[in-house]
Amino acid sequence: MPQLRKDPVVDRWVIIAPERADRPNALLRPLPERDGEACPFCPGNEGMTPPEVLIHQTNGPAWSVRVVPNRYPALRTEIQMSRSGNGLFDTMAGVGAHEVVIETNDHRKTLADLPAAQIESVLTAWQERMLDLSRDIRLKSLFAFKNHGGPAGATLFHAHSQLVALPFVPEGLGGELRGAKRHYDEKERCVYCDILAQELRDKERVVIENEGVVAISPYAARSPFETWVFPREHRSSFESATGQEIKSIADALRTMLRKIDVALDKPAFNLFLHTMPLREAANDWYHWHFELKPVLTLQAGFEWSSGCYINPTPPEEAAAFLRQTEV
Ligand SMILES: [Zn+2]
Ligand SMILES: [Zn+2]
Ligand SMILES: [Zn+2]
Repeated sequence: MPQLRKDPVVDRWVIIAPERADRPNALLRPLPERDGEACPFCPGNEGMTPPEVLIHQTNGPAWSVRVVPNRYPALRTEIQMSRSGNGLFDTMAGVGAHEVVIETNDHRKTLADLPAAQIESVLTAWQERMLDLSRDIRLKSLFAFKNHGGPAGATLFHAHSQLVALPFVPEGLGGELRGAKRHYDEKERCVYCDILAQELRDKERVVIENEGVVAISPYAARSPFETWVFPREHRSSFESATGQEIKSIADALRTMLRKIDVALDKPAFNLFLHTMPLREAANDWYHWHFELKPVLTLQAGFEWSSGCYINPTPPEEAAAFLRQTEV
């Protein structure tokens, strides 16, 4: 029988309905490599993008990580912020930032193909850009995310991630902040530390563990093989993560991405970071983390209309399958 599960942090219900599966299918394929077209992210084509705001260099001839403003930004920093309302409709000038992090100089490599040290360099670039953008006090929150493959929203094959800074805190983060604060006010403990402690006792939904990081299939996973990756050490913001923690998270992400590549035949995926709004002091109630969602199903009318999700793959099965997947 389908089971209704409520996420312990946000008010979100999920219907775990294994009998609906059609096992996750491979209809949603990543992008082809598109050889022959000039790629704006390849070395030698730097002129096709705006000038970089950050670069990581290795010993080789080309840069290893390059961060550039988005050529077609959703938002930009140059505009003055103004807020106005017209009756029902609130308007805000599109102030913000939108940057692209080119994760490697090698056109054919995916993030999962890169050595852990290179993934570490990408995450460090995110940290450096976050610290820089947080100096602009108009910006209130920052989202770092990666769309891999066409079905996940990527339009270019070359491995890249994006940073979007917003002049407000949107619901995707705001809901977690409220839920985490409510838990802390009642129990004086971080809800994510509580989740981790329980999952590490039960083991059923733990996918991987290393010295600094635990990855789990969340109890109320919205979609098949959704995975959350937590630093063991409680810390409210990603910007304050230590070099050792970044190293552990890079290792864990690499293993996770390789596992889903093998287990699900290189699916499209979204990977994103949840961290405190910019410039907030460290606190005991919010815990930064990554969320990884292979794109195997589409959101349809039910999801849009209700805000609930139907997940045909019980997270316990997903975790067991990923644990057994050798990489
Ligand atoms: Zn390229
Ligand atoms: Zn915590
Ligand atoms: Zn989250």
